[in-house]
Amino acid sequence: MNGKITIAGIGPGKKSLMTQEVIQAIDNATDIIGYSSYINRIKSRKNLNLHSSDNRQEHERAIHAIEIALNGKNVLIISSGDPSVFAMSSVMFETLDNGPEIWKEIEIIILPGVTAMLAASARVGAPLGHDFCAINLSTNLKPWSLIEKRIALSIECDFVIALYNPRSKSRPDDFVKTLKILKEKCEENRYIIFAKSVYSKYEKIKIVKLKDAKVEMADMQTVVIIGSSFSKIIKKKNASIIYTPRSVKH
Ligand code: SAH
Repeated sequence: MNGKITIAGIGPGKKSLMTQEVIQAIDNATDIIGYSSYINRIKSRKNLNLHSSDNRQEHERAIHAIEIALNGKNVLIISSGDPSVFAMSSVMFETLDNGPEIWKEIEIIILPGVTAMLAASARVGAPLGHDFCAINLSTNLKPWSLIEKRIALSIECDFVIALYNPRSKSRPDDFVKTLKILKEKCEENRYIIFAKSVYSKYEKIKIVKLKDAKVEMADMQTVVIIGSSFSKIIKKKNASIIYTPRSVKH
């Protein structure tokens, strides 16, 4: 038996934003593996084993899933948002790639989900309406020099930039340095969106000008979106809409 592993994105936090395929995969699983705060979102039931792990134990999580799959069970790995955006799909493929030949025959099914930047974008308007890029700000897996270069060149290309993993307790300085680069290279009226825990009961969204942006506005539950030089605000009485026009004149 070769085994089968499903890797699903459970979206940003609201059940109704999960796809039908993900809901079905959860219903059909015998074992669900994931970071504890995602496992907490799954309703327990008879004949379902829930396996929570620490956020850093990604490789162990993949091996655990492989072992369960090789035992003929229906194992599901869950990630928040989309499972291939800075999440478990790549961890699984890295593990298979570096493991015994027989692992490569395991069938892997990826079920997409609504990633944080799309959820945040929907809550504020259409900031990603023109060309954009996404950068994971964590230095756990790559050097700061590369992140710094990518931010600088993205600004030069006038991309809208979505920043995942902007600021954690173990990396307090990375976002300080990021804001410094942004303030040096962009005009002070550039819009920046701090979207925290989007589509959950803890949701908090701020749209500010770069000159008013503070390091404390971001944490690990926040996705930060920096507008391009073309991003615009439509002012309303209670909330503002931000969008980036589709075209740039020739
Ligand atoms: N696979 C996830 C991203 C994992 S990296 C996805 O596709 O969304 C974790 C980072 O995602 C967090 O540090 C934060 O920047 C962002 N994030 C995840 N869920 C979020 C939410 N509901 N609201 C805002 N940001 C979120």
